[in-house]
Amino acid sequence: MRKGVLRRRLLGGLLALALAVPASGLAASIDNLRLWAAPDHARLVFDLSSPAQAEVFRLDDPRRLVIDLQDTRLATDIERLDLQGSAIRRVRTGIRAGDDLRVVLELSRAIEPRHFTLAPNEQYGHRLVVDLEYPGESAVEDPIDPIEAMIREQEIAADRAQAEAVAEGRDPASVAAVLEPARPHPKRDIIIAVDAGHGGEDPGAIGPSGVREKDVVLSMAQRLARRIDATEGFKAVMIRDGDYYVGLRQRTRIAREQKADFFVSIHADAFRSPRPHGSSVYALSQSGATSETAQWLAASENRSDLIGGVDGNLSLDDKDEVLRGVLLDLTMTATLNDSLTIGGQVLDRLGRVNDLHKSRVEQAGFVVLKSPDIPSLLVETGFISNPDEERRLRDAGYQQRMVEAIFGGIEAHFRRNPPPASLLAWRRDQGRDTAGNEYRIQPGDTLSEIAARHDVPLVQLRQANELEGDVIRVGQVLRIPRS
Ligand SMILES: [Zn+2]
Repeated sequence: MRKGVLRRRLLGGLLALALAVPASGLAASIDNLRLWAAPDHARLVFDLSSPAQAEVFRLDDPRRLVIDLQDTRLATDIERLDLQGSAIRRVRTGIRAGDDLRVVLELSRAIEPRHFTLAPNEQYGHRLVVDLEYPGESAVEDPIDPIEAMIREQEIAADRAQAEAVAEGRDPASVAAVLEPARPHPKRDIIIAVDAGHGGEDPGAIGPSGVREKDVVLSMAQRLARRIDATEGFKAVMIRDGDYYVGLRQRTRIAREQKADFFVSIHADAFRSPRPHGSSVYALSQSGATSETAQWLAASENRSDLIGGVDGNLSLDDKDEVLRGVLLDLTMTATLNDSLTIGGQVLDRLGRVNDLHKSRVEQAGFVVLKSPDIPSLLVETGFISNPDEERRLRDAGYQQRMVEAIFGGIEAHFRRNPPPASLLAWRRDQGRDTAGNEYRIQPGDTLSEIAARHDVPLVQLRQANELEGDVIRVGQVLRIPRS
């Protein structure tokens, strides 16, 4: 609060206010600045010694965002803030009106600002949060091809039409014929949404030696995405690909926007005592699914997105609420069945990498699992609160084995049940499923690592590809011999 204002208010007889705000120690200090850069926004957090009044506004030519903090002083080195990946080019500060601090962000692009204050919690004290949203920017770095998205939408529409037929007691086969994918075969990729839990100001669980869940799960998610992209017929979409937070609802929204066939969320468990250990796999619980169905019905914008149909012909607007509920239930149940099947496949393989905390696929009402139309799993890769597993979670070899187990389960399911328009379905129909025996080389790969990953002796891998030495190039496709 500005002193001039305070004086006026005191003169106005607002003594109570003056008593509530002691005259000494009035000034807040900025003790730290933190920045999280996401593809569609940046979040700048001011850690404050006490709450401060802020005014935030934009200026043009050149583009700037001004943050005026009343009675605030700077107690941190602003130069230390890493601006990389954000729209902020430079940060300047100056003192205004004696005690006020002006922070100016020089910007490289148009932004939509938003700000709010947060009261202290377990981890942080008073905070001022300034979000810079980038209009027209996707939340994911590498959105899927619009044509693939269209094909996938047609498939979703076909599924829905079949469910509708079942609900109305008609023969679903009659619907399928009409909605068969257009020729030539689209051979689309199967889209796997990879979600690294937590991020940004939410570190997740923290291990006894300080390892943060958000870091190890991001590292595993990135490995998983690389593994998926290296497999022909599959494509990964990262829900977050950096150290920033994405809201839980936003995570499933991104997956739906990206037309994901499957959603997997990577986490690490924690408990108060260091003893519990092992990996576990979660799907949504049926009761969670049921209540969520109700929630979906309530939210009209979600509803229109979900069952409004793609081409208008499939709109359910004219159906009554009961039928709508039945259709959602059918979708949810089918999705949950797929989740449990894939979960079983993943769990089997995880059991060969680590002890299992729970020997069955567990079911719970996690928000990120509540997409009615995308089979979803949450994998707890280990207990970060267990010193032994904390160490393993950081280990590159362990991370890669985890990733192989997770993808192995997903891949096995989709090879057996490929979506109709997918490359895998086309391959199966052609009777030449060779994709499993090929590997496209990614940046950073080495031949020995590829051999180890596919469980083939290096010599055999060299022979199968007529390689003399160990020189390989990115994009080269290797034949993986059966060992
Ligand atoms: Zn977690």
